[in-house]
Amino acid sequence: MRSGEVYLSGLVLAGRLVVVAGGGRVAERRVPELVVAGARVHVIAPQLTPGLHKLADDEAIVWMARRVTTADLDGAWFVLALTDDPEANAAVAAQAERQRIFCVRADAAEGGSAWTPATGRAGDLRVGVVTTAGPLAASRARDVAVSALGNDPDRDAPAGWVTLVGGGPGDEGLVTVAGMRAMRAADVVLFDRLAPAACLEKAPAHAELIDVGKVPRGEFTPQEAINALLIDRARAGLRVVRFKGGDSFVFGRGGEEAAACAEAGVPVRVVPGVSSAVAGPALAGIPVTHRGLAQGFSVVSGHVAPGDPRSEVDWAALAGTRTTIVVLMGVANLDSICRALLDAGLDPETPAAVVADAGSESMRVVRGHVGGIAAAAARARIGAPAITVIGRVASLDLGLR
Ligand code: SAH
Repeated sequence: MRSGEVYLSGLVLAGRLVVVAGGGRVAERRVPELVVAGARVHVIAPQLTPGLHKLADDEAIVWMARRVTTADLDGAWFVLALTDDPEANAAVAAQAERQRIFCVRADAAEGGSAWTPATGRAGDLRVGVVTTAGPLAASRARDVAVSALGNDPDRDAPAGWVTLVGGGPGDEGLVTVAGMRAMRAADVVLFDRLAPAACLEKAPAHAELIDVGKVPRGEFTPQEAINALLIDRARAGLRVVRFKGGDSFVFGRGGEEAAACAEAGVPVRVVPGVSSAVAGPALAGIPVTHRGLAQGFSVVSGHVAPGDPRSEVDWAALAGTRTTIVVLMGVANLDSICRALLDAGLDPETPAAVVADAGSESMRVVRGHVGGIAAAAARARIGAPAITVIGRVASLDLGLR
């Protein structure tokens, strides 16, 4: 037969007979789409997977519980040879050819007269990809197309708006889908030191990337200057993304930024993020609540030492909550924090753990008890960013990978 490229078309199958030979895993993946297309589907196979069985029970398909024969193709518009027996598939394809019915072969695509594309949806659009480069290449291309088409800049990061995006604890995989979409639509991104840097590459090539990151006790952009930048760029009609670590409203000053924008008449939206307050312990195998161990958790800042006139945290009260205490920004003051808790009556044997660089390759965990955790963290030269977890759950190590 003359060779040529595959000719792409969309089949209208509503009310038309489609014969599927085979009732295994491949059929289970393909048949539901045929049902959605409205086809009259005959599945011919001695056995069905549970999923196909259910479709037959619901009368969405007709099941003929036997091996396929040449007579089964009579009246069909389309045939799928999906058995796990290459000879049976070849026989079905040959019969289809004689009857001039297009036929897909699961075991050897080139042996059929039609190919099944890797398909996807993006809103009202259907995407289908066929390639000679194999099914993996097809599904990758489909994923790229679907995610690009799913990107609607006006919905993801509207022009003239500020979108506050929480980037999670550091691992690119822990940014939300909505956060990633906003990033892909951005004209300007203002980012922090703790925001997952790998995601910045997803911003469009034209986007202005502004590092407003603070190094502890070092150079930083004052909050007023950040607010002014956000307002200025949004007023210029740009899609502004404020990208930071964790969640913007957990010690992220997102509230101040939102208020400043609102006061300036600039519309703001928020894409919540995965906060390190919960994700940090989780990645170390510590659940912040656990049946029988902790019925709640408190998240506090350790930025200001207990006893410092600027401190508003009631450490003595925290010591009595019997819930998990999660301290952020507490590395430098860990010793005085633990001492304040012990002074208020917390049992020195209360388990404690420090999780540094959660979600990145350099993640480290130091475990101990409130009585000795500060010294242990110092010995291990733990530095920011780190989370301290205090409470009975801190002794757990669920052995997660
Ligand atoms: N908005 C962020 C917190 C910002 S405050 C959030 O929701 O996660 C900065 C503090 O967060 C750090 O001092 C540290 O205590 C904690 N932190 C942030 N990212 C961290 C990480 N990857 N590992 C451990 N602690 C982290």
